Amino acid sequence: MSIPVLEVNDLKKHFALPGGFLSPRGYVYAVDGVSFSIEKGETLSLVGESGCGKSSVGKAILRLYPLSGGQVSLSGQRVDDLSPGKLRPLRRQMQVVFQDPFSSLNPRMRVRDILAEPMTNFGLASNRAEIDRRVGDLMEKVGLPREAASRWPHEFSGGQRQRIGIARALAAEPSLIICDEAVSALDVSVKAQIVNLLQDLQKELGLALLFISHDLAIVEHMTHRVAVMYLGRIVEKGPRDAIFSRPLHPYTRALLSAVPVPDPETKRERILLKGDVPSPINRPRGCHFHTRCPYAFDRCRSEEPLLTSRGVQHVAACHLHDLPEAENPMLKPVAG
Ligand code: SF4
Repeated sequence: MSIPVLEVNDLKKHFALPGGFLSPRGYVYAVDGVSFSIEKGETLSLVGESGCGKSSVGKAILRLYPLSGGQVSLSGQRVDDLSPGKLRPLRRQMQVVFQDPFSSLNPRMRVRDILAEPMTNFGLASNRAEIDRRVGDLMEKVGLPREAASRWPHEFSGGQRQRIGIARALAAEPSLIICDEAVSALDVSVKAQIVNLLQDLQKELGLALLFISHDLAIVEHMTHRVAVMYLGRIVEKGPRDAIFSRPLHPYTRALLSAVPVPDPETKRERILLKGDVPSPINRPRGCHFHTRCPYAFDRCRSEEPLLTSRGVQHVAACHLHDLPEAENPMLKPVAG
């Protein structure tokens, strides 16, 4: 078996609430025991409503803040326990593309210098001529003219700026790119172009992609596997086709029910969840989803469901699957 590009095991990020006497007043359980891996050339999408902890997972992997627990390995090497100095050369391997390319590109730097920075920082080019050649190649790779590298970020459209963001990530020659809502702010047609670009680059370079998104229509189009998060935990994880055609967790099914179906003949029953997402400071006992779940029963209020294998590479955390099949509403088809 090959070593995954990214392996995350029992990742935790708890933010302490200040204000207590000598100890924190409590914790925000932003990420609480998340595990997954991504192979070379594979895309795993992390999905869920805003505030579910998916972006915190990305930031924790990037070590943008200290972890509360768990392990992160890049191509088999632990990175969660490395000192900043030892982590630095490994940072090259994991790059990020953020949602807002305008605020993530330095407005005072020409695109050429933005793309050259990772090359010089990580010692990937030795002289000016080589940097210029590689900057031009990167511009072409992301579908922009070579000569446009002499322009400033504000001279580009939103979609073009996102292409520059991708080129900057590629400049470090990474094995993993974390796309944090990377297409969410773009128009529908531009969104599709950027997703197609990411897919082409993935095929060409064998990149592993962690695609963090709340947009399940885009995710369905481009991912290999999906992990669904609720209140800091993964509640379901599996291959794309299994998740989209046979979701096993009521939360996944509710999220999918809001995705438009391209075929007007096909109707998908919309499931409206009651109430708001509970606070990640005071999570409900038992199944954290029971306050909003249309199928909650007594066991859900007292016993926490564990992620359990329910199919090929398909896991879900829901007590319904311990019931006899005939009594399990989740085994009914999704679309009518
Ligand atoms: Fe709903 Fe119970 Fe399943 Fe939680 S364990 S998702 S509350 S049925």
